[in-house]
Amino acid sequence: MEKELHARDKVGLQDFVLLEDYTNIDAFIDNLDRRFKEDLIYTYIGPVLVTVNPYKATGLYSEEVAQVYRNINFYEEPPHIFAVADTAYRTMLREHRDQCVLISGESGAGKTEASKQILQHIASTCVNHSTDVERVKDRLLQSNPILEAFGNAKTNRNDNSSRFGKYMDIEFDFKGAPTGGVIVNYLLEKSRLCQQAAGERNFHVFYQLLAGAGPETLEALELTANTETYFYLTQASEAQDNSRDDTADYSDLTAALDVCHFSADEQAELLQVVAAVLHLGNLGFIGDAAQATIKDFAPAVVVAKLLGCDDSELCNALTQRTISTFEEVSTPLTRDQAISARDALAKAIYERLFSWMVRRINTALVSADSETSHNVLGLLDVYGFEIFKYNSFEQFCINYCNEKLQQLFISLTLRSEQEEYLKEGIEWEPVTYFDNKIICELVESKPYGIIALLDEECLRPGDPTDASFLKKMSGILKRHPHFLSHETTDFQGRKTIRREEFRLVHYAGEVTYSVNGFLEKNSDLLFRDLKQVMASTKNSITSACFSLDELDSKKRPETVVTQFKGSLGALMEALLFKEPSYVRCIKPNDEKNPGVFMEEIVRHQVKYLGLMENLRVRRAGFAYRRPYDIFLRRYKSLCPATWPNYSGPAREGVQLLCDHLEYDSNNYKMGKTKIFIRFPRVLFTTEDKLQLR
Ligand code: ADP
Ligand code: MG
Repeated sequence: MEKELHARDKVGLQDFVLLEDYTNIDAFIDNLDRRFKEDLIYTYIGPVLVTVNPYKATGLYSEEVAQVYRNINFYEEPPHIFAVADTAYRTMLREHRDQCVLISGESGAGKTEASKQILQHIASTCVNHSTDVERVKDRLLQSNPILEAFGNAKTNRNDNSSRFGKYMDIEFDFKGAPTGGVIVNYLLEKSRLCQQAAGERNFHVFYQLLAGAGPETLEALELTANTETYFYLTQASEAQDNSRDDTADYSDLTAALDVCHFSADEQAELLQVVAAVLHLGNLGFIGDAAQATIKDFAPAVVVAKLLGCDDSELCNALTQRTISTFEEVSTPLTRDQAISARDALAKAIYERLFSWMVRRINTALVSADSETSHNVLGLLDVYGFEIFKYNSFEQFCINYCNEKLQQLFISLTLRSEQEEYLKEGIEWEPVTYFDNKIICELVESKPYGIIALLDEECLRPGDPTDASFLKKMSGILKRHPHFLSHETTDFQGRKTIRREEFRLVHYAGEVTYSVNGFLEKNSDLLFRDLKQVMASTKNSITSACFSLDELDSKKRPETVVTQFKGSLGALMEALLFKEPSYVRCIKPNDEKNPGVFMEEIVRHQVKYLGLMENLRVRRAGFAYRRPYDIFLRRYKSLCPATWPNYSGPAREGVQLLCDHLEYDSNNYKMGKTKIFIRFPRVLFTTEDKLQLR
């Protein structure tokens, strides 16, 4: 009972709702800091879990700890990721309601680790010895090393940074044993394939393959173990330190592929595609502005051999382009065009390979018997708000995604508050909050939202450019309260936005985007000739990824942002019917250092994760609520009518207690099963009385 969360303890508050001044960000950060210094990396905002990455092993995830959190009342143990996992899992079983855990935070904050801990906790909790269940568990867990090999990279922020968004549904039967799962991936950062920032690496799988595959395999793929040989692996202007153990990771990868039932043939073809991408990068061009020719055919021959296509067709497709209007005309590509065609091909192959991997893993996760799937628990691991010095199309998409998630958060939080009040028979008290719907609409409404305008410009005949897009958009949106262009002055009356930029006032703060590259990234063109060659390949992965249907279709392919909007819409719909839990991850410093808490860096994240707004919504009604029996058990000694002996109903006991303590009737309400207290102050006073006794 001592452990019960009620009030201040020696190391700050376990729950931010108990902050006296809940609008004070300094107090908020101070509380995080004090707890962090004691290795208390978890704190609640009501049901929301805030975590601070410790960057070291903490002993927080042992089986003993897991045991403590099995079958608990959420607030009875100190905050923990296992408490979130366990509560979601039990609620699903008890109420037969689908759950989801939404994890957000910036790169390196600990999202992926959190999602693995949740998965791990659930896997170790649902004891079931049937081999089917064990197989599903194994595959769910082993999908991680596979997707991480292909979708993660070493960046300056995180040695194992996920470069894609991920949503995973775990399906359970009515007894709570996992029966299958479905993974959905979002927006792989494929630009990394051809270009890496100083000190960063390409996707892990390339290094794993070169370090781990052994001479025989490498020879078959015509590769050498030396990463320096490959153009795509040497694009970072500063050398990368190879702190990762790529050799060990490679054997984890192949073991995971076995578990997820990739056949030997599939694994061989998979490696051929990966190798082909590396060889493709080594394909150079010479020639003047007018016409490119291939410098050395050797890499092209290897690519063609690995993928099983005709090498001269491949070379032609890389150096000329067929335009068919009335008759087919071939025009040569300039050297620059050939280079971007090559890179576009490599990126398309890799991106489609990644999606193929996800689909392939999903087939291994299909429930053997869909009848038995009863409820699902979803895990969402996506980027939090991104605000860099230079923000581009990618940040625009990611921040749009976060606006949508905030919308969901607002409606779900308000809904659950409302439901609880209703269930407890307490009058609904309206909560005022900032509704970011206006920003979502600025981005996605038709025909004058940013996405619609961007698509229109991408599809417009003539000579659309990033600048013409910006000009048109600024003209149409200039009066929108959340849109600023270079003509607008900021709140201090200064003109701080450049000609090629626009600024959005997001719910979490202002972000200035450079419009450069928007059109190209959104259209994501790959010449038809290259698609045709890929569709003709004998490698069953590439031929599946580039289907002939796509070539036959007269419809223009959807733009990147419209595809993204569509998949986000589907995600929101799926989440709306689930009961959510939230995990908000924070990283304490930029150096991956244990024990260092940099206030400014944390402040930035607290702001952009919307945590203060989170807290405000949570505190708008009642700061604190507890079931009567728990409340009474803790405070019964403060009232002669309940101490030492009281045997009546808990609700009446609590009423006697409140009367005796002279609670102001405005400050609390009695629900059917719980007491609701408006201000933490009331609780602290009561807690102090307990200490004085
Ligand atoms: P994100 O997915 O948010 O980018 P990760 O989950 O990959 O971040 O975490 C980055 C790194 O931080 C991990 O590789 C690990 O070293 C460390 N880390 C994250 N969470 C924890 C934790 N709870 N305990 C110990 N180390 C952690
Ligand atoms: Mg991650």
